[in-house]
Amino acid sequence: MKEVIYVNKICLPKSKYPRIVIIGGGFAGLEFVKGLKNTGYQLILIDRNNFHQFQPLLYQVATSGLEPDSIVFPFRKQIHGFKNVIYKNANVKEINTSNKTIITDIGSVDYDYLVIATGTATNFFGLQNIEEQSLGLKDIRDSINIRHQMLLNLEKATSCCNIEERKKLSSFVIVGGGSAGVEMAGALAEFRRYILPKDYPEYSSSLMKIYLIEGTDKILGTMSEESSLSALKYLKDLDIDILLNEMVIDYKDDLIITKSGKKIVSKNIIWTAGIKGQFPNGINTGSIAPGNRLKTNGYLQVEGYENIYSIGDVAALISEETPHGHPQIAQAAIQQGKYLAQNFKNKLSNKRSSFFKFKNKGSLSTIGRHRAVADIGRYKFAGYFAWLIWSFIHLISISGFKNKILVGINWLISYFSYEKSNRLIIVNDKIK
Ligand SMILES: Cc1cc2nc3c(=O)[nH]c(=O)nc-3n(C[C@H](O)[C@H](O)[C@H](O)COP(=O)(O)OP(=O)(O)OC[C@H]3O[C@@H](n4cnc5c(N)ncnc54)[C@H](O)[C@@H]3O)c2cc1C
Repeated sequence: MKEVIYVNKICLPKSKYPRIVIIGGGFAGLEFVKGLKNTGYQLILIDRNNFHQFQPLLYQVATSGLEPDSIVFPFRKQIHGFKNVIYKNANVKEINTSNKTIITDIGSVDYDYLVIATGTATNFFGLQNIEEQSLGLKDIRDSINIRHQMLLNLEKATSCCNIEERKKLSSFVIVGGGSAGVEMAGALAEFRRYILPKDYPEYSSSLMKIYLIEGTDKILGTMSEESSLSALKYLKDLDIDILLNEMVIDYKDDLIITKSGKKIVSKNIIWTAGIKGQFPNGINTGSIAPGNRLKTNGYLQVEGYENIYSIGDVAALISEETPHGHPQIAQAAIQQGKYLAQNFKNKLSNKRSSFFKFKNKGSLSTIGRHRAVADIGRYKFAGYFAWLIWSFIHLISISGFKNKILVGINWLISYFSYEKSNRLIIVNDKIK
C-alpha cells in the first residue's frame, strides 16, 4: 500500500483549552471568532487570504468607484486583543476526519472541533469556454481583473479605427440578473454616462453597449415582484439591454451565444450567474447537499460528524422549513456565526442550545448612484429613500473604522462630482 506522507505540523502554542479550527474568515467565520473572543477555547483561524473582504461592494471596485483596500481588512489587525485567537495564512487541502487533523499547504493542524466556513466559488456549470474567457465577480482579485480589462479595452477602443472592433472592445455582457449582476450593470452604465465623456472625449459613449442576460423571467429573483419591476425600470432608464429567459451556452471568437440562438459581440463578459459550495476534500459524499453544500442539522453540525460544524454559504441546514438550506447571503452567514459561537459558550456552562433560527431582516439592491430597491418585512421601498437605506446599511457593515471613512468619503465625492476614485491600469496575468 502507498504510504501517505503528511507535511509537518504547523507550530502552534500549547493550550489547556479545547482547540477549535475555523477554515475561512468570511462573514460567518469571522463572526464566530468574534463571538468567542477571550473565552475558554483556543481558536485557530485559517484563511488562504490574509484579509476579510466585503463582497457586496466588489462591483464598485470593479467599476473604479472604490479603491480595493477600502473593502478588505487584514485578519491580523482584526484580531488585535483576541488573546485566544491565532491566525494562519494557509490553504486547507484536506480534512482527515479520523485523525482529527487538517492538512494545509504549509503543514497540518490537529483539532478538537472543526468549523468549515469556506463559502462558495463561481459556478460555470461546465461551460469551459466561458470559464476560461469570462471574468467572475467573487473576490477582490476578480474585481481588479474586471477594472483592468475594462480600462485596457477602452484604451484599445479609442485607438482603433474599425467601428465594429471598437464596439466589441467597449461592450459589456453581464450574465446573471441577481443582485451582483444588477449592481454591476448599473455601475457600468453610470460609468458610461458620467465618466466616459469626460475621460475619453474622443470616444462616443453610444458605442459602449451594456447587456444583462438572465435565465429566468425576472431580475432579482429572490426579491419581491415590486422590487424586481422597479429595478428593471431603473436599468432600462440607464439604457441597459436586458434579455430575460435567455441562457448563455457558449462564448467563442468574441461571440456570446444564447440557447435561443442569439449572438452578441463583445470582448468583455462578466459571469455572475451561479455559485457552488467549496470545501476541502475528506468529507463523506453522503454529507453533501445539492449546490455542493454541506448538510447540517439544526445545531449546524455536519451530518455524520460529531465535532465538525459548517456555517455560512457553504452550509445547508436542510429541514422541512428550509428544504434547500438558507439563502446564501451575508446576514444568514453572520447569524450562523453568532449562533454557533453562543452554542460553544453554552457548552462551557453546560447549557442546552436550541436549533438555529434565521431572522430575515430584508434584502436590498442598488441600481446606479441614487436608486435602490429594498424589501424590509412587508414594506417595499424603491428609489432615493431605498438608496439611503442601502448606503447606511453597507457603510455600517464594512469592517474597520478607516474603511468606513474611506468608503464614506468616496461616496460623498462621487455624489457631488460624479468622480470615480481610481482608474489606473496595473495589468496582471489574466488580462491580455
Ligand atoms: C459580488 C457579490 C455581491 C454580494 N452582495 C451581497 C449583498 O448585497 N447582500 C448580501 O447579504 N450578500 C451578498 N453577497 C453574498 C455574501 O457575500 C455571502 O453570502 C457571504 O460572503 C457568505 O459568507 P461566508 O463566510 O459563508 O463565505 P465567504 O465570505 O465567501 O468567506 C469564505 C472564506 O473562506 C476562505 N476559504 C475558502 N476555502 C478555503 C480553503 N480551502 N482554505 C483556506 N481558506 C479558504 C476564503 O478565502 C474566504 O475568506 C454577495 C456576494 C458576491 C460575490
